[in-house]
Amino acid sequence: MKRICVIGAGYVGLTTAACLADLGNRVACVDINEEKIAMLQEGRLPIFEPGLEEIVRRNMKASRLSFTTSYEEGINGLPAEFVFIAVGTPEGVDGEADLRYVRMAAERIGEVMDHPLIIVNKSTVPVGTGDWVADIVRSRQRQPIPFWVVSNPEFLREGSAVYDFMNPDRIVLGSLDREAAEKVAQLYLPLRSTIMITDLRTAEMIKYASNAFLATKISFINEIANICEALGADVKEVAAGMGYDKRIGRAFLDAGVGWGGSCFPKDVKALIHMAVVHGCHPQLLQAVVEINRDQRRRVVWKLKEILEDLRGMVIGLLGLAFKPNTDDIREAPALEIAGLLLREGAVVRAYDPVAMPNAARVLPQVIMCADPYELAEGADALVVVTDWNEFKHLDLPRIKQLMRRPVIIDGRNIYEPEMMRELGFIYRGIGRGYNR
Ligand code: NAD
Repeated sequence: MKRICVIGAGYVGLTTAACLADLGNRVACVDINEEKIAMLQEGRLPIFEPGLEEIVRRNMKASRLSFTTSYEEGINGLPAEFVFIAVGTPEGVDGEADLRYVRMAAERIGEVMDHPLIIVNKSTVPVGTGDWVADIVRSRQRQPIPFWVVSNPEFLREGSAVYDFMNPDRIVLGSLDREAAEKVAQLYLPLRSTIMITDLRTAEMIKYASNAFLATKISFINEIANICEALGADVKEVAAGMGYDKRIGRAFLDAGVGWGGSCFPKDVKALIHMAVVHGCHPQLLQAVVEINRDQRRRVVWKLKEILEDLRGMVIGLLGLAFKPNTDDIREAPALEIAGLLLREGAVVRAYDPVAMPNAARVLPQVIMCADPYELAEGADALVVVTDWNEFKHLDLPRIKQLMRRPVIIDGRNIYEPEMMRELGFIYRGIGRGYNR
């Protein structure tokens, strides 16, 4: 049993705190957001993440997990041997990662720590941040107390955060001090995963390179999809055929409206920024971003091809979250598509199983519907933006009957073109043969 403090109670921090507690450790989770902490203290979750609430409640009940807004209590109360930093690192000016929350966390850790600590950074941060964090902590200490900084990038996915945390493909640890990294490795031994120990900067780069590669795979298949449309090939079959090759793999080869979310967009841009600042020319990464931007516009182009003028047209968006099983709408393709459609003068409606409250705050002009059938009623077109499972099982004949025009743009290729045409839809997927 180790004593751990986790700073940040977002998707990563809360999952880390709850799962480390579930592995038998005592964990205090600190967040500056009082509302979040108040909810968590009552055993309620401020975010939607499958399975997490149960783990939080179970471990609170067993007195292994607590929540506080106080750094003193979180770090010195236990007292913690490890402090994980899991605060946000959003996109800043010119794509550079905004490190203000990491800075605040490092300052407070330095100010309050009254015993030696291993500081583990889980936030995605530019290469070199580990050293910077160490400087900040040192500069804020009232008296010199030893501490060690270990980079431990997180690879979990929203929507399956608990599963991913408990079943990682690998655990990456980077530090100038091997002993400190090995102590962090001990925490993860129960997960029986591959543990890679490297230096700080390399660990930080592994996270960016991994996200950039995944985004590249998606942009790659989207480019192939667009070529497929021009040449009459079906990208779904192409991806399947490619995926059998072990060197390629099938994952992340789904053509569609592109990648979004709280990580890929900001991380690819941050990597580009780091590269440019250091005199490199990241031309592949720049193309990856451009292809992704065009992919969202393509939906609107497809609609205009069929409906011509979108003014006054009622367009329904099936899905708002950036991917299924999450309520996260940060950088979701739906936001941009809704914006483009509104600019064209369309009336935009939307339905999402869990992301509507979040989306309503940033898309006040979009009419939220109670279910996919209300969305379809009187609509001139529907656009599948998120591949929620429930959309795959809709009563499509009923949907068709309800719509004013039976137009479906399937931005996630969840339906089969043949079947949709048989049902009488004017259907367009992404990259599924000539203009299909
Ligand atoms: P989030 O926005 O959901 O949560 C961040 C939390 O940190 C918020 O609750 C905020 O109130 C809190 N916070 C901010 N400043 C603080 C401070 N000074 N002290 C205490 N709490 C503070 O963010 P997230 O999605 O959990 O991401 C956290 C980090 O993990 C980011 O660097 C992100 O890139 C990385 N990451 C995220 C994911 C993901 O899927 N969300 C996956 C891997 C890595």
